[in-house]
Amino acid sequence: MIKKQLLALLFALAISGCVLPQLASLPTATPPPTYVVTPMPTLPPTAGSLGDPLFPQLGNAGYAVDHYTLDLTVDVATNTLTSTATIRAQADLTLDRLHLDFHGLTIEEVTIDGESAVYTREEGELIIEPAAPIAAGHLFTATIRYFGQPEPQPLAMLGEIGWLHMGEGILVVSQPTGAGTWFPANDHPQDKATYTLRITVPQPYVAASNGLLAEVIETETERTYVWEVINPMASYLATVAIYPFEMNTQAGPGGLPILNFIGVELPAEAVAALERTPEMIEFLETRIGPYPFESYGAIVVDLHFSLETQTRSIISRGHLLGPREEVVMHELAHQWFGNSLSLAQWQDIWLNEGFATYLSWLWTEHIHGPEVFDNIVRASYQAPFLAMPPGTPSADTLFHGSVYVRGALTLHALRVQVGDEAFFEILQTYYARYRDSHVTTADFIAVAEEVSGQSLADFFQSWLYTRGVPPFPER
Ligand SMILES: [Zn+2]
Repeated sequence: MIKKQLLALLFALAISGCVLPQLASLPTATPPPTYVVTPMPTLPPTAGSLGDPLFPQLGNAGYAVDHYTLDLTVDVATNTLTSTATIRAQADLTLDRLHLDFHGLTIEEVTIDGESAVYTREEGELIIEPAAPIAAGHLFTATIRYFGQPEPQPLAMLGEIGWLHMGEGILVVSQPTGAGTWFPANDHPQDKATYTLRITVPQPYVAASNGLLAEVIETETERTYVWEVINPMASYLATVAIYPFEMNTQAGPGGLPILNFIGVELPAEAVAALERTPEMIEFLETRIGPYPFESYGAIVVDLHFSLETQTRSIISRGHLLGPREEVVMHELAHQWFGNSLSLAQWQDIWLNEGFATYLSWLWTEHIHGPEVFDNIVRASYQAPFLAMPPGTPSADTLFHGSVYVRGALTLHALRVQVGDEAFFEILQTYYARYRDSHVTTADFIAVAEEVSGQSLADFFQSWLYTRGVPPFPER
């Protein structure tokens, strides 16, 4: 994800020549004392929690979802949803209750393996009691029929997330707690699953979503879009965008299908930035490894932030008018770091945002050369918000500028510390090892130490977990 104010700063940094002196002349406060902060410990998982220390309300233990089939009929004018969610999951232990994360909306019926089940609802939890306990190891199907007007969730620093009615259309942006506003989910990136989304909308609306567009079924008054997500996806990365979109296609490397949905008027420069997507994918494949998914594309709408929804990033029109290629690259880079490699815990979000930010700097280095890149790094180091260590944000500072910029500087400092060859081998090894899986900061540090042969505990302690910025990494 990237939000407006931060991107404005990054953009200012990107045209660094004129901005660097301004940043450098910002009044500097007395440096805060240096001290080490420790990450919050993981909590024990329970039926209604996966134990995430920042968001203990998210996720549910005792089962793993294999596939979600979401059948949605949407009345755009009234923002009303009529849905059936069919969830195929495997029990890890014998379950006499099944918890799902689900907010608002009215439930009509719940079944487990075709048998009607009773349920209760408590603050964002749907608790289902099957007629008989679900045996450990059993692959079962939960079906929930529901309807109503979705209620967005409040989120510090962003406003509202989840299913949003935008006036002219509908948009889902769920990071990190919004998926439960539109479907019952095991809403934590630890439990990724494949998806089928069948979205019926009135003409002339178009329903964009994740993955491959398998089919469009058209009647005189409605269209049903069938989307298939064939690589595992975290629930917060599932999206639906319903606008009278214009669609266009591009061919990515190796024939990768790229399908874009443009919901706003764009000037030629913004279109040109989007058109570089295949070249950017090729750049990341060369530097990191193969593109992780079945398709890609952008959904361009008016929103105050952008989000790396899997295989189809939501890109803010405002971002495309400003930093353009940086935002296209930032959300694309998340497909590798954030989406294919998912967080095991939300407090490690620098593994998403620091990486996406640094990769957008590397794109600038690739296009504009080492001098411009060097200016970006130096100007970023002067940013006035870097005292906060990026490795231990709270739920309210998940999208703090330091997570992005000091996160990216951490990677740059690592590159200076181990050299270019080892640095890129670290990124490649880390990606190859954890593709379609989960990561922690400890996993990344272990790969960095293994590949470089260096002991890096103190290095990461000072960049990620110590208040006060470490010395500038001079090459
Ligand atoms: Zn991001």
